[in-house]
Order: sequence, then C-alpha cells, then structure tokens
Amino acid sequence: MKEVYTLADLQNWRRIEQDAGRPIRLGVVGDPVAHSRSPQMQNAALKHHQIEAEYARFQISAAELGEALERISQLNFIGVNLTVPHKISALSFVDEVDPEAKRIGALNMIKVMEKSRLLGCNTDGRGFSRAIREEFSVDLRDLRVLVLGAGGAAHAIATQCAKEGCERLVVANRTLKRGEALTASLRDFFSGPKVLGPVARLQSIPWEEEAFRFQIANVDLIVNATPLGLNQSDRSPIPSRLLAPHLMILDTIYLERRTPFVAAAMEAGARGANGLSMLLYQGALAFELWFNREAPIDVMREALLSAERG
Ligand code: NAP
Repeated sequence: MKEVYTLADLQNWRRIEQDAGRPIRLGVVGDPVAHSRSPQMQNAALKHHQIEAEYARFQISAAELGEALERISQLNFIGVNLTVPHKISALSFVDEVDPEAKRIGALNMIKVMEKSRLLGCNTDGRGFSRAIREEFSVDLRDLRVLVLGAGGAAHAIATQCAKEGCERLVVANRTLKRGEALTASLRDFFSGPKVLGPVARLQSIPWEEEAFRFQIANVDLIVNATPLGLNQSDRSPIPSRLLAPHLMILDTIYLERRTPFVAAAMEAGARGANGLSMLLYQGALAFELWFNREAPIDVMREALLSAERG
C-alpha cells in the first residue's frame, strides 16, 4: 500500500488496487492528509473485527473533491472521512445529508449506500463532547466556551455545545463574518432562561488580542478549531500571557510533540489536552455508522498511542 493516494490513482483504481494487494475500501480525504492518524486507528479496528478491508489516505485538493467523491461512489468503497479543507464543501457532492450533519452544516464522513448513493454524516460534535468528558471530567452543559475558528470542525463543536445547553458560547474567527454566521445559526438554542449578568450568552468576536483578553475572564473552556499549530513555525492562537490557571484548553490538533496552544496552557498553569481523544471518539462513531457494530475503543486508542510513540 502507498502512504498517500491521489485523484490520478482513483482514475486508475483497478490497477492501483491490484498493486496494493489489499482491498482498499475506506480512507480519509484531505489536503494536507499525510499527517492523518485515522488509518492507524481504523485499520486496527478493521483487523480486530476481521473485516477484509483497508483504510488509506487520499491527497485531494478542493478543486478535485467533486470528481474524487464521484469516483469513490462508483468504486467498491464503504465510505470515507473528510478533513481540512473539505468538511463544508463536501455538502454539495453528496446525495443525502443526515439531520445531525445538516444542523452542523458540515460533514466529516460519508457512507456509500445502495445504488452508489452518498450519505453525508458528522461525528465530530459527539466525538468532541466525549473527549471533553474524558479529558476534564466535566459536561459541556456546565461550561462557558470560547471556540477559535468557524470552519467545519468549529461548526460541529459549537453546535454540540449549543445542543448540550452550555452556559455561554463565544466564537472568535479570523474572518469575522463567518464567525457571525455561525453564532447566528445557533441563536435558537440560547433563548432560554439562563442569566449571566452583563456578558452575552452567545457572541461572535473579532480575532484580536483585546477581545481575547476580555473573554478569558468569562469562559472556562477554550477550543482551538483552526489549523494553527500544525506547522512547526506556528505560534499559539492565544499567547500564554493572556491565559489563566482556571482555564481548560482543548486543541483539536493532535501531534506527537506538544502543540503550541497546549504548551501555552501549561505555561499559564491551565489544564490542556490535544485532539487525540476527539480523533478517537469521532473515529469510533464513524466506524459504528459504516459497519453497524460496536467500535473496539481500546484497540483504536492503543493504535493511536503506538503511532504517537512512533
Ligand atoms: P476549515 O474548515 O478549513 O476551517 C479552518 C478555520 O481555521 C477557519 O475558521 C479559518 O478562518 C481558521 N484559520 C485558518 N488559518 C488560520 C490562521 N492562520 N489564523 C487564524 N485562523 C485561521 O478546517 P476544519 O476542517 O474546521 O479543521 C480545523 C482544524 O481542526 C484542523 O487542524 C483539523 O486537524 C482539526 N480537527 C481535528 C479533529 C479531531 O478529531 N481531533 C476533528 C476535526 C478537525 P477563516 O474563516 O478566516 O478562513
């Protein structure tokens, strides 16, 4: 099997599959995708259940996504995961969207149904919620949350916070309008009776130091749902001098080295976790949707941890 497949490979799939020597029937589609740990985790689950299928990586650009998904629907695939930057744009290339993904406005997985129809789903929100419980032993409904980003992952995370009745939700995004659109789509969830004094329960803020500084005192959990931290040269989205010890920090990025955001949290005396447990739970939920059987969580976790240890 190759490390990464491309659209050209999907165009010659029969030959490629013969060379691979194994039936590749699942994968993750993204750009970049080489860093993805989903293959280690999903292949361990497939092996555990003795399912004759392999999970691969597909390096597919935004311009190639439509053709790639069309080809995947025609080949013998069970489904795929979607990662940056495809979670929102993939909505236009599927035949059906399940209600949860429709509410979120983004997909993180596709299931190939009968007659090559593509069903779009999203397990990021529920995966995020389980990760918060595991990492910090708290429930979202008790928290005031600041989400950094307004892309596919942020949509799932913010929607989950809203659905679970979090006390307060603030979205900060580089492009303010996208952050405003995300909070506007969640307004219905915040019309209830919770009263928090002078601060708004649902708010969109600009990506600026002053705005962060004001919010830090009024939130419990900050989630990085931007790719900031993926590159070695990236800085923490919020510098440690603005952070405070009462905070919980979840970086959705998962790297073997400590992410800049988690490092900044530690420096400030706050609790921090990377995105490994979110990856685990969103992947386990996807496995269950593809196969209608329970995912072997411990096997998947061990595969992720041993990939991290190298
Ligand atoms: P996306 O749809 O492309 O959205 C990216 C978001 O990041 C946008 O809000 C964008 O702001 C913002 N952004 C990008 N570069 C930035 C920069 N230099 N400074 C400030 N903001 C920046 O991506 P996505 O699918 O949501 O994924 C985001 C991250 O979440 C990725 O790193 C991915 O690995 C991670 N993730 C992890 C898990 C997990 O299970 N652990 C699951 C899902 C996603 P604009 O609107 O201004 O462009």
